[in-house]
Amino acid sequence: MSTAIRSTATPTEFPLPTLTRSARGLVLEGVALADVAAAHGTPTYVYSLAALRAAFNAYRDALAGRRVLVCYAVKANSNLGVLSAFARLGAGFDIVSGGELARVLAAGGEASRVVFSGVGKSVAEMRQALAAGIRCFNVESAAELDRLSAVASGMGKVAPIALRVNPDVDPKTHPYISTGLRSNKFGVAFDEAFALYRRAATLPGLHVAGIGCHIGSQLLDGAPVVEAAEKVLGLVDRLAAEGIVLEHIDLGGGLGIRYRDETPPTVRDYLAPLLALFDGRREELLFEPGRSLVGNAGLLLTRVEYLKPGVEKNFAVVDAAMNDLARPALYDAWHDAVAVAPRPGTAAARYEVVGPICESGDFLAHDRELALAEDDLVALLSAGAYGMTMSSNYNTRPRAAEVIVDGERVHLVRERERVEQLFAGERPLA
Ligand SMILES: *Cc1c(COP(=O)(O)O)cnc(C)c1O
Repeated sequence: MSTAIRSTATPTEFPLPTLTRSARGLVLEGVALADVAAAHGTPTYVYSLAALRAAFNAYRDALAGRRVLVCYAVKANSNLGVLSAFARLGAGFDIVSGGELARVLAAGGEASRVVFSGVGKSVAEMRQALAAGIRCFNVESAAELDRLSAVASGMGKVAPIALRVNPDVDPKTHPYISTGLRSNKFGVAFDEAFALYRRAATLPGLHVAGIGCHIGSQLLDGAPVVEAAEKVLGLVDRLAAEGIVLEHIDLGGGLGIRYRDETPPTVRDYLAPLLALFDGRREELLFEPGRSLVGNAGLLLTRVEYLKPGVEKNFAVVDAAMNDLARPALYDAWHDAVAVAPRPGTAAARYEVVGPICESGDFLAHDRELALAEDDLVALLSAGAYGMTMSSNYNTRPRAAEVIVDGERVHLVRERERVEQLFAGERPLA
């Protein structure tokens, strides 16, 4: 849909590696963002296929020669286009609901490469996953072991399980996305895991396959994961001495990305000390990265509706809002805001970039120096993870469109929602 545009900037200016500046403004791979907005409107999530592939291949390359399965954590971005891209690259998938399983299968993913995490699996979800033949259930409580065994037995099946253990290490991340502390709701307490494995081994509907842990998200330091892995390996060896031999060890996801000035380790540097722990071991290794595969492969494209100069603050009211990108309102998260094609002569000013929603928490970026005019486009970067998947219809706002750019092509992978769809299942009182 657009002609190729030669970029002039170094490819590392933005955290999204395939985003560059050109005479026609920001260009993703070979497509001007202005062309995406003209064809598909705003707000629109825009992902780069090359960036998705590069992120996955960083894991693949760092893990070359090992028996591993990289299970993409679907909740980070569950668009079928994204899932199909990872399925073609040979990814497995980490799901947290029956809905996510349905998406993976609809996108061409293989059930035999799916692990199912989450503290609240329903009977219906267990049945669905057993019928599909998933790779493993990551079980998070004693009660879930019992339920899963009963459900599987009732279907004449055996459920492969791993216990998600809580290694009680501090991942040093935001409290809402820290999951590996004793005080979290996730996983089974480390001290109880041994007894639970013994119990699981006696339950008729279960096959004890592995062990897992996931200590948090947006980790900028790999050391807590190494600490967790060491604890897990100690437990694996104690279990083996009891005759409970595990086939795989799942070290979860959590590697952080650069939103602003963070300096997360590269995938290779993050994995190296973990892989060293596994030298000479026989278990297959699983990982569940989400954010680090998609976060910096996408942006949210939005248009300025109004500029509202103020005494204390200037507001840029854009057509995206907290219902589209919740992270700023939810975690006070920082996303880079870049004017897509600043018009010559527009003076820069400091803006609060806000949406139209009736909440003071509806902001996308605070106090940013931007050269903006009404109708200009703004790109909110690093929005590929936990962007669209956390969006809602608050204020009866149809959710954004999603596109994947591949070279000079633009694939519409989700149509913009229409208002009628939003209340199609509702009815006025009779
Ligand atoms: C959310 C989650 C992940 C992915 O975490 P990222 O920080 O996005 O890599 C992996 N495993 C489990 C169990 C999760 O809940």
